[in-house]
Amino acid sequence: MNNEEKLYLFNGKRQVLIVDDEEINRSLLGNLLENDYELIYASNGSEAIEQIKNNKDTLSLILLDLIMPGMNGLEVLKQIKSDFQLKNLPVIVITSDRESEVESLNIGASDFIPKPYPQASVITARINRTVELSEDRMIINATECDPLTELFNREYFYRYVEQYDAHHKSVETDAAVVNINHFNTVNERFGTDYGDMVLRLVANKLMEYVIASNGMVCRSEADKFLVYCPHGTDFDDMLKTVSDDINSRMESNNRIRLRIGVYEKVNRDLPVERRFDRANMACDSVKNSISGNIGIYNSAIHEKELFDEQLIEDFREAIEKNQFTVYYQPKYNVQGDKPVLTSAEALVRWNHPTFGFVLPSEFIPLFEENGLIQKLDNYVWNEAAKQISEWKERFGITIPISVNISRVDVYDPMLVETFKEIVEKNGITSDELLLEITESAYTEDPEQIIKEVKDLRELGFKIEMDDFGTGYSSLNMISELPIDVLKLDMQFVRQAFSKRKDTKLIEIIIEIAEYLRAAVVAEGVETQEQMASLKEIGCNIIQGYYFSKPVPPEVFEGFIKEKIYAEC
Ligand code: C2E
Ligand code: CA
Ligand code: CA
Repeated sequence: MNNEEKLYLFNGKRQVLIVDDEEINRSLLGNLLENDYELIYASNGSEAIEQIKNNKDTLSLILLDLIMPGMNGLEVLKQIKSDFQLKNLPVIVITSDRESEVESLNIGASDFIPKPYPQASVITARINRTVELSEDRMIINATECDPLTELFNREYFYRYVEQYDAHHKSVETDAAVVNINHFNTVNERFGTDYGDMVLRLVANKLMEYVIASNGMVCRSEADKFLVYCPHGTDFDDMLKTVSDDINSRMESNNRIRLRIGVYEKVNRDLPVERRFDRANMACDSVKNSISGNIGIYNSAIHEKELFDEQLIEDFREAIEKNQFTVYYQPKYNVQGDKPVLTSAEALVRWNHPTFGFVLPSEFIPLFEENGLIQKLDNYVWNEAAKQISEWKERFGITIPISVNISRVDVYDPMLVETFKEIVEKNGITSDELLLEITESAYTEDPEQIIKEVKDLRELGFKIEMDDFGTGYSSLNMISELPIDVLKLDMQFVRQAFSKRKDTKLIEIIIEIAEYLRAAVVAEGVETQEQMASLKEIGCNIIQGYYFSKPVPPEVFEGFIKEKIYAEC
């Protein structure tokens, strides 16, 4: 039960547990409170713990006698306060002993009532006030916490980190980001209820571990958890303990794998957010790593961070000063005796005034994180459309050009409209501009993308699924996809022609494509041998260094001229 649900329950009478070994005391307090509260009782420590556990979702307060035979009140209190599901329950201790009064307040009791009992009105006033305070606290908690996992949400977590720092000036601390590998696939294959369950399991176990290490944890977003704890915490052990615990609870044998990025001994002059950005970069550095699942922020990542910051800063000026240029890589149809130029792929490059020629792998992922990609892609799409139109005019033929659509663009509500405008503005038709969307975008949010793609196809655009084979689509999903071309990821070509030549996988993909009535493009083809084998097994469209690297438009024009010459 989360706090909001619990608050809702409070609209009736609040429930109070009275724990006292003496019958006379229980009935004295009972008589005093029965009109205002719903009462339950326990006459010793272990009975009290049982009642508390059974009623943890409805209890508003515990009145706890400290002196009892067997398990005494202090022990009960310690158990409550060390159980993370119970620790927020307010406890008022009843005692005749001043010393244990102080001790119990230190352990976490909210208040105390002395024995012999004071005036009835004093007792009820203390009880009412404690209940009220605890409910106020709960309302605050409801806004501080992520409802799914009941961990802090990010905003509050950042504030608590600041408070922690203020109170622990001499403690060195680490910031860490914990992520679940391929969480999208977990959701896609087993459903979001299952995904939610995984998130709760990770949250609970992580919280248990982190609290025991005197740290704190929050759920930042989706499958990302942030941890802040004293330096020296054994993250290897943390990851192993949490993973082992979750996997031992899973019915399926699909293991959940976690990865973690750590920024050690944080610089406290940095805003909290920046510290976790660094941990996040370290976490990203082991994203697809097979060698390990712990990334530590180091000088190499720091250099990259500075480089990235510079690129982001320079972006606006680069667009204004036309520093981005579009290169074109030809695709050839190899079905006949001679390869025939069929189309091109537009690939962006950055002519940076200080860094020189920067490749997209350096800046595309970065711009995807902060939304700049939309601006850049719009620019590239326009350039490509303009190029189609220009070549059509000059050479009298259409060279269709495919452009890359980032997975971020898919969420742009104006996407369809944008393409419509681009085509109209440049006087081309929609089937002359091909749209490449990476397979992983489909697995990220199949519904959204299928909707967008359907709309685009209705307008006549052709859709190519890029990097096919890397996105873990299920066969089930693929059969429903509205696509025109499957573009084999380069790694298949690599694998198929590695030491043990084995083109079986590619053959299967070609069969899938036939079933979908989609064409297949192989990219990353570098040798004559690769080209010939692909042709033999029925893959007719080839892109790769074997024909040409991506080149500037002036160079590409050479290929167009060759084509025209061959056709006359
Ligand atoms: P991609 O869409 O999979 O593009 C193919 C990449 O493979 C290109 O890298 C291309 O130069 C490279 N390539 C082509 N043939 C061969 C070959 O035979 N051997 C090898 N080793 N590589 C080959 P590039 O241009 O560096 O682009 C990298 C990625 O950046 C692209 O992968 C694409 O995902 C992204 N990208 C490029 N331009 C844009 C753009 O304008 N917008 C967006 N959103 N992404 C872009
Ligand atoms: Ca592409
Ligand atoms: Ca690709």
